[in-house]
Amino acid sequence: MTNVLADSVTSLKGIGKETAEHLTEMGIYTVQDLIWTFPYRHEDQRLKDLAETPHNEKVTIEARVESVPSVLYLGKNKSRIQFTVLAGRHLVKVVFFNQNYLRTKLVPEMIVTVSGKWDRGRQVINGTSIKFGPKTDNTDFEPVYSLKGSIHQNKFRKYMRQALNIVGEDFIETLPQYLLEQYKLLPIVDALEGVHFPKDANHAKQARRRFVYEELLHFQLRIQALRKMRKDQDKGTIIQYDLQKLRDFIATIPFQLTNAQKRVVNEICKDLKEPHRMNRLLQGDVGSGKTIVAAIGLYAAVSAGFQGALMAPTEILAEQHAQVLMDWFTPIGIRVALLSGSTKTKERKQLLEQLHNGEIDILIGTHALIQPDVIFSNLGFVITDEQHRFGVEQRRILRDKGMNPDVLFMTATPIPRTLAITAFGEMDVSIIDELPAGRKEIETHWLKKEQLNSVLSKMDLELKKGRQAYVICPLIEESEKLDVQNAVEVFEQLATIFHGRYKVGLMHGRLHPDEKESVMRAFTEGKIDVLVSTTVVEVGVNVPNASFMAIYDADRFGLAQLHQLRGRVGRGEHQSYCILLADPKSDEGKERMISMTETNDGFRLAEKDLELRGPGDFFGKKQSGLPDFKMADLVHDYRTLEVARQDAEKLIYDDAFWQHEDYRYLREMLEESGVLNGERID
Ligand code: ADP
Ligand code: MG
Repeated sequence: MTNVLADSVTSLKGIGKETAEHLTEMGIYTVQDLIWTFPYRHEDQRLKDLAETPHNEKVTIEARVESVPSVLYLGKNKSRIQFTVLAGRHLVKVVFFNQNYLRTKLVPEMIVTVSGKWDRGRQVINGTSIKFGPKTDNTDFEPVYSLKGSIHQNKFRKYMRQALNIVGEDFIETLPQYLLEQYKLLPIVDALEGVHFPKDANHAKQARRRFVYEELLHFQLRIQALRKMRKDQDKGTIIQYDLQKLRDFIATIPFQLTNAQKRVVNEICKDLKEPHRMNRLLQGDVGSGKTIVAAIGLYAAVSAGFQGALMAPTEILAEQHAQVLMDWFTPIGIRVALLSGSTKTKERKQLLEQLHNGEIDILIGTHALIQPDVIFSNLGFVITDEQHRFGVEQRRILRDKGMNPDVLFMTATPIPRTLAITAFGEMDVSIIDELPAGRKEIETHWLKKEQLNSVLSKMDLELKKGRQAYVICPLIEESEKLDVQNAVEVFEQLATIFHGRYKVGLMHGRLHPDEKESVMRAFTEGKIDVLVSTTVVEVGVNVPNASFMAIYDADRFGLAQLHQLRGRVGRGEHQSYCILLADPKSDEGKERMISMTETNDGFRLAEKDLELRGPGDFFGKKQSGLPDFKMADLVHDYRTLEVARQDAEKLIYDDAFWQHEDYRYLREMLEESGVLNGERID
């Protein structure tokens, strides 16, 4: 019986050569293919009372034909047919276009079921479909498929009905029984029925739920199988650190780690100790304390006799990291060095020698770390900060400076978990989703551009207290068309206003890298009070004394970027403020401004951003590379994705999965995907 599925669709009644060709265009060759072609929506055919149906709404009625139809010919092949029906107590007109065959079919007193758009004012139904006879019980929701060629929905529904009837109860269940029970999922036959011809709204919903889970489970099985194979194959470095020493080091940290920090430290240390190579992404919102987590990992590596490296995207960031790590490590005899583009030749030469001899334990730096003459004696652990700022190639070069060192990528861009575990499926993901206690929320306000003066006086108040401020402008070039504030103009304006009282600095992408560094340094050292800048200031800079930020034309930024920008303030003990100056025109723009004022939580904003923009846009087109799902929707089904991920991981490591009959279908799917032959899926 089951081989019916493999039969050509031409084995179904009514499908001849021509129809089969159209079906082929849709990728449908066999009965199985047909059945797995899901409708993209259902037409609600439940009978409605016209008295309660709003104007322009779709409606289905059962009615009695009251008049002989009249046809109006409107030129070549165009016609309009009109007749009167009685629906309940409503006498209404029904109009169809180009269906003049109805003229011979419709006779007074005949019962018909008509669907169409209700024109309440004129008491007319603009018909879209008609059936002769009363409505049958089981057609409350009609499937609507995405079809090619001249196949009509009604025909296609008939083929589908026929196929489902023939295959019937013999359909072999594709999910293991225990999963069906655990999640109360519909069995395959009922689910297929519910996907195509649901009895009611709940049936359709439950059917969808099953297939969303199944689809995501398949996807996650592929990812988890791939990861397991990499773990089995990749012979990495075993970093056998001394747990007691590590504990002692942690005890010297001047604050309590947050629970989230403890959790990710454990995840990282577990990876270090194991023989496979660590390939981990550490996500943590700005200020969540990633540096100390990195430091603990580096300490573990060093205490086990390895060297560590930390690469940051800018000199300032590298310097900040070096400063912090030297403060912690130098007193306990761990040798930390900084290598950057501005390291003097003589110093550099000496440093490289020491590195090569193993006299330096931890090297921190910029791209300078990946130059060919930078040679480690025993590099075991590599960390990249703000990983998205480096290319794949740069990260690879650094990694190759060790013998399969463990690798940790850090990022402050909160990526919604859904996307992180799909787009970065091959990486392990650690998340710090908690800020250290006692942090003051950044107070965020959204003001109209005409309220600029009150923003400036608020800024003045902060500056008087000795604080510093950022003013962010979207673009550097004058562009009247876009009505964007020009950073230079704003700078000049503020320089005039604050003349003689505060020092105003300017930072933008057109400055030479050296100039950028020196402006940034002046701000860091408090020599500049107000920094007018474009978004180049976005990444990682830590100026705890800055407590005020104004963002011009804030609606021109995405949520993720606004959040990153805002993260430049609120880094010290002072209450900080962020003012969004914007007159957004779109609802979406308004929603973004409101979201910013409502939460400081980067992950929640990222989820919101994903919801507003969709997964494709979130990463930009090129990077997205997400699979096309038939049923699942990453924005709405992310909980299911997470559940599927856990289930898939368990299955992959369970011997039963690779042997038992229950899992045969899932195994076959995995084999067919090519993952097991080492073909990449991403
Ligand atoms: P980010 O994750 O943005 O890189 P940092 O590592 O720079 O954050 O940490 C921000 C600040 O918070 C630093 O001054 C750091 O010392 C401090 N910090 C980190 N963890 C904690 C903690 N658990 N309790 C208190 N302060 C912490
Ligand atoms: Mg950081």
